[in-house]
Amino acid sequence: MKETENNQKSIKCSFCGRYGTEVASMVAGPDVYICDICIKTSVDILKNNLAAYSTKSSPKGLLTPEMLKKKLDEHVIGQDQAKKVLSVAVYNHYKRINSASSFFELDDVEIEKSNIMLIGPTGVGKTLVAQTLAKILDVPFAIADATTLTEAGYVGDDVETVLVRLLQAADYNLEKAQKGIIYIDEIDKIARKSESTSITRDVSGEGVQQALLKILEGTVAGVPPRGGRKHPEQSLININTKNILFIVGGAFDGIDPIIARRINKNTMGFGSDSLEKSNLGRDDLIQQTQPEDLLKFGLIPELIGRLPIIAPLHSLNEEAMKDILTQPKNAIIKQFKKLFLMEGVELEFDPLALDEVVKDAISRKTGARALRSIVEGILLEIMYDLPSLENVEKCLITKDTVTKKAKPIYFDSEKKSA
Ligand code: ADP
Repeated sequence: MKETENNQKSIKCSFCGRYGTEVASMVAGPDVYICDICIKTSVDILKNNLAAYSTKSSPKGLLTPEMLKKKLDEHVIGQDQAKKVLSVAVYNHYKRINSASSFFELDDVEIEKSNIMLIGPTGVGKTLVAQTLAKILDVPFAIADATTLTEAGYVGDDVETVLVRLLQAADYNLEKAQKGIIYIDEIDKIARKSESTSITRDVSGEGVQQALLKILEGTVAGVPPRGGRKHPEQSLININTKNILFIVGGAFDGIDPIIARRINKNTMGFGSDSLEKSNLGRDDLIQQTQPEDLLKFGLIPELIGRLPIIAPLHSLNEEAMKDILTQPKNAIIKQFKKLFLMEGVELEFDPLALDEVVKDAISRKTGARALRSIVEGILLEIMYDLPSLENVEKCLITKDTVTKKAKPIYFDSEKKSA
């Protein structure tokens, strides 16, 4: 391109039709011209496009990480770090998907997918946080258990059945399914059985890791629409997993000594790997998980590479458990209160009764998972009696109701009754 003399009357801007004499300068290409005014207008348009993608309000109506975290707070108690990590990761993931059809595709930088690994004890909210995110984002969500999966061709589910579930969750809308979230639980249970190679194939451990690798990376997988095994005559649906976000979770029992040994080695110099030197508890250690610890635990390096974001979750203390009972939008106590209200009765728990429920749950060592069944257990007899009782306005659950199965205190419209 060259700038031509603008006094050439015959030259006309190919965009606005102005003559060379009417503008300050004109740039010529092969048989086309553009004037300085049109160049300036074009630059403004490009700048505006760029600004639309980089303003604080998220692209294409995406919730910002802060908004995502706030929404998660309404459902998931504690786990602040994990919620933050997830909010950023999910925001970036969907920004990446959106950018694929935008202005940013013009450069050569391709943003790779970052799947997420959640590490934490059982019942502390790993599944809940993944599920809640999918709900907030209104994308299809499917859960799979890594322990039920086997390498293709062996007894058990093929890894691709996970994709069928997502497709089903999306009501067979392929486009929606391809932007969904899959949560794979118990990923730690498919760790390599041992370092040494054995004669028998490890079809449920390393074999599954290898199989998962492909769909995590992004592949086009042909799946039988109704699940089950593939057979030659069957028509298959091709699912592209490139934009599916995978969140995997596991308790990783036994990873804490591995982390402790690494930390001790780093801080105490070589030769010292005594666990006692680390005063950190399991929770604190897990917060410091590094890819190399996962490798030692038995995950294959390629899989670890595909799960670059590690979000640790901590165990739940008494206060958190109590909050879980009462605070989330869908809290267990709120649910029962609603049930009772349908009966015309106000349900109330004495704070001391709640403390006992929490104590019981903690002793069961299954995180918050035990809370529901404990509360169900306490309320069963009461829910059996209540519809036959007359004039009851309020039902108070006391400490003794929880610990000694004593009757709750019923209040009628005027006075307290036994
Ligand atoms: P896991 O960590 O084993 O995946 P889940 O997410 O399935 O545990 O939790 C089991 C149940 O316990 C959930 O359905 C939820 O009701 C409750 N729960 C666990 N952790 C939390 C939390 N941090 N906040 C609110 N509820 C929780």
